[in-house]
Amino acid sequence: MAKIKYYYDTETCRYEQIKLTKWDKFLNFMGFVSASLAFAIVLMILFGVWFDSPKEAMLKKENKELKYHYDILSEKISNTTEMLAYLEERDANIYRVIYEAEPLPNEIRQGGIGGSYRYADLLDKGMEKEELIIDTYKEIDELKKRLYVQTKSYDEILTLARNKEKLWASIPAIQPVSNSDLKRLASGFGYRIHPIHKIKRLHTGCDFSAPKGTPIYATGGGKVVKVKTDFSGYGKHVIIDHGYGYKTLYAHMQDFAVKRGEKVKRGDLIGYVGNTGSSTAPHVHYEVRKNDRPVNPINYLYQGITPAEYEELLRLASIENQSLS
Ligand SMILES: [Zn+2]
Repeated sequence: MAKIKYYYDTETCRYEQIKLTKWDKFLNFMGFVSASLAFAIVLMILFGVWFDSPKEAMLKKENKELKYHYDILSEKISNTTEMLAYLEERDANIYRVIYEAEPLPNEIRQGGIGGSYRYADLLDKGMEKEELIIDTYKEIDELKKRLYVQTKSYDEILTLARNKEKLWASIPAIQPVSNSDLKRLASGFGYRIHPIHKIKRLHTGCDFSAPKGTPIYATGGGKVVKVKTDFSGYGKHVIIDHGYGYKTLYAHMQDFAVKRGEKVKRGDLIGYVGNTGSSTAPHVHYEVRKNDRPVNPINYLYQGITPAEYEELLRLASIENQSLS
């Protein structure tokens, strides 16, 4: 509604009506139109910022879901890589050593992963996050190659193992005491707090706690090379030579069940758990030595346990607690 406007005329001392020309009216109208337009544009922009179109909203949701799945897949890939690395390590340092297979050079294990040129065609498809996708492809390819090499290595070891029955009967492969609930493994190999000196020292074996008089068994076939009573240190202890560079030691016994020079088979009774020598509780301190150097006995427990039980033993042995001797 057009309003009638007045002005004060100082000459006539009266309010006079303002007369608008057609031009004035046109300009007023244009001003109104542009203000409305500007207002509408501002509203549209604000709407666009705050609210997505249904299509945009759907794409965003889809993106979010894809990102979620991508993260899960990435995590799975890195978990698998870790597991494979663990298998490779055991293979290289234990199985291939025991069965005297030639070491596998690292370049072969890594499968000669090539440059990124093989993934170049992915780049032309205008994909966003190309690097992410290419890296994932590379990781999966690398895993496939390493798995292939690992399988071949197991095949080789299997053939060697079939020809080495005597070796298999000799090397340490069981726990020195019966340990059905696995709770007897009290302390593992590695740096542990010494129970008497109270400082961290290399614990050169595994401690299995058990009541006095519990039978101790030979963990592999061989010859008893030492049956000795020390008043400190290992106390009453037995050493078996298994050949192939392997020896095992069983310490803090209460009594012996073998004599020096005797031949034993895996599982034969060799003595009883005690608390002799530098020991704080009845247990057997068990060592495996390869070429006279103590190695982690946890790597020599293959027989009679399931993978899940082995996993639990690994966990128990890795706890950095105080050893019993
Ligand atoms: Zn110990």
